[in-house]
Amino acid sequence: METILSISNLTKKYGNLTAVNNLSFTIQKGNVYGILGPNGSGKSTTLGVTLNVVNATSGNFSWFGGDTTTHQALKRVGAIIERPNFYPYMSAYKNLKLVCKIKEISEDKINEKLELVGLLDRKDSKFKTFSLGMKQRLAIASALLNDPEILILDEPTNGLDPQGIHQIRAIIQDIASQGTTILLASHLLDEVEKVCSHVVVLRKGEKLYEGPVDQMISSNGFFELKSENTDDLINYLEAHPNVKSTKILEGLVTAFIDQPMSAAAFNKELLEKGILLSHLVLRKESLEEQFLQLTDDLNDAN
Ligand code: ADP
Repeated sequence: METILSISNLTKKYGNLTAVNNLSFTIQKGNVYGILGPNGSGKSTTLGVTLNVVNATSGNFSWFGGDTTTHQALKRVGAIIERPNFYPYMSAYKNLKLVCKIKEISEDKINEKLELVGLLDRKDSKFKTFSLGMKQRLAIASALLNDPEILILDEPTNGLDPQGIHQIRAIIQDIASQGTTILLASHLLDEVEKVCSHVVVLRKGEKLYEGPVDQMISSNGFFELKSENTDDLINYLEAHPNVKSTKILEGLVTAFIDQPMSAAAFNKELLEKGILLSHLVLRKESLEEQFLQLTDDLNDAN
């Protein structure tokens, strides 16, 4: 596997605030990575460091296995980390021509990239006439003009309407299917689930998880229980080797389990201990609930 970017023990402090805390992760060629976390969790700061626009407080990062300078490496990277900004009175095509001049790259790819983002038929329209989604798509075309090995996007669908969101996600998937590695920052679980193969979950600058999206959360669920004899039930659950934690609310006992268990077997087990249940349900949190538990957002909001 070819490593595109490797970050190790990265920390960024702004005065007393630690925006990124001892963060390490690796980006391998050909995958679509999401950095997922609530607003303020350090996603943009992390991207900014790797793009040399934010200075790290400590730690390291290296591009493409470390055999080039960051300056050289960034010529092989396409990034959009701010709101797209082009000349309002110039056409989409002319704006991209200017980008080619500034970056000293060939103009050959302009039409191809405009086509990829669905703007070829609007290439002569002035930038100011574009919707926000079209502006974002033009920015993607612009970042792709030099055929980068990796495309970096910070909250690519922020502020867009559902159709605009759908278009951007489809374009990202298209670009990925052509072999370009992608790294995107998002606060939307749904977006990362839909678009990414791998994810780094951040909370308050710290990594909570790194790995495939589909293995992000592996919960065995929980039992909801009611019994006449709540005290006995709680005592039994608290001593149970497969019960991670219990909680009780208005007589409803919730027992979180750390390995798969069937409701029937659990009912039998309790019965044998003389604990009769009036209610027994085995539930699994939705992916969203599990994610919120992982990032502890529920507690933060309270
Ligand atoms: P995210 O991209 O996940 O929303 P950021 O990386 O933008 O998070 O911010 C992480 C934390 O660092 C936040 O608390 C934010 O307020 C703070 N922060 C970001 N940039 C600066 C800055 N230039 N000066 C001071 N604090 C900053």
